[in-house]
Amino acid sequence: MKYIDEFRDGEVAKTLALKIARLAQPERSYSFMEFCGGHTHAISRYGLSDLLPPNVRMVHGPGCPVCVLPIGRIDMAIDLALKQGVILCTYGDTLRVPASEGLSLMKAKARGGDIRMVYSTLDALQIARDNPEREVVFFAIGFETTTPPTALAILQAHQEQLSNFSVLCCHVLTPAAISQILESPEVRQWGTVPIDGFIGPAHVSTVIGSRPYEFFAEEYRKPVVIAGFEPLDVMQAILMLVKQVNEGRAEVENEFARAVSRDGNQKAQDRVAEVFELRREFEWRGLAVVPYSALMIREKYGSFDAERRFKMDYQSVPDNKACECGAILRGVKRPQDCKIFGTVCTPENPVGSCMVSSEGACAAHYSYGRYKDMTP
Ligand code: SF4
Repeated sequence: MKYIDEFRDGEVAKTLALKIARLAQPERSYSFMEFCGGHTHAISRYGLSDLLPPNVRMVHGPGCPVCVLPIGRIDMAIDLALKQGVILCTYGDTLRVPASEGLSLMKAKARGGDIRMVYSTLDALQIARDNPEREVVFFAIGFETTTPPTALAILQAHQEQLSNFSVLCCHVLTPAAISQILESPEVRQWGTVPIDGFIGPAHVSTVIGSRPYEFFAEEYRKPVVIAGFEPLDVMQAILMLVKQVNEGRAEVENEFARAVSRDGNQKAQDRVAEVFELRREFEWRGLAVVPYSALMIREKYGSFDAERRFKMDYQSVPDNKACECGAILRGVKRPQDCKIFGTVCTPENPVGSCMVSSEGACAAHYSYGRYKDMTP
């Protein structure tokens, strides 16, 4: 199959592994954070950590949209479905995220909530058109990749004067999360993990381009290599990061040039800017409240904002005490450091959000590597 097999070629992977091993200086260690859950998934699925020398360590970052969605936001969506009687539309990944009182969207559906899984915002718009007598709310989550379709849905609803459609907007921003990892005061609680560089997001960067990461390279002296989600993309990015560290460089390099440019997708950025503005602050699961890290719907499109329409206030809800998601999302702990990993908490019965989506660090680890890494 063209364009897939080439990026999974075992022989090329071995060559890259050899190059990394030759370049990695034995007297130092290298810690690289892969921001995206897609990279975490690829690393676990293809066993890439096994191809690296022991002094090159990959640290899982917070780049799984489901994992960083705080309980309080899911509670809001459940409230809309169960108490306000809306048709709540959402992407499938959010359905099983644990919420308050032992609930999840899936369980709320079993209790009678009209909660429907959609594949795109177009589906949600169609449900609103088909049910003019009902309120339809799209529960919008995700990073910069999923934000443009939400913007387009709002623009479309505005054009059609679709008065029964609104959006519970929980879109978050990648660069703000990277800043938070590098400098937040919570490092005192969680401790710090030395990060020598980042593997930058793939899909997110197709929208925002590579330019926003130049700040990290310049201000924090951290190299960033944007990489695709195939195993050889990741190996190549690690090689490029090792080279940068060895040479004392901190630059943004683009391994994913087949899809990412420096400026990204200007049309998508324009639509997003038309509909959304920065939120002053937003709580992330595991990263606490991060200033200017999320988007809200502009006043001009305020009638499509479910928070305003239903007069909702956000209530923060603490995570399950046993759950180590917060430390894992910062790269301070590994999934197998959580006491309930693989026993109480499994993909069939997720206790924390990192176990819900296949991009979550715990789920990826459980599915592809838990027996090897767990201490006897
Ligand atoms: S194993 Fe479960 S409870 Fe523990 S950190 Fe991972 S998701 Fe949270």
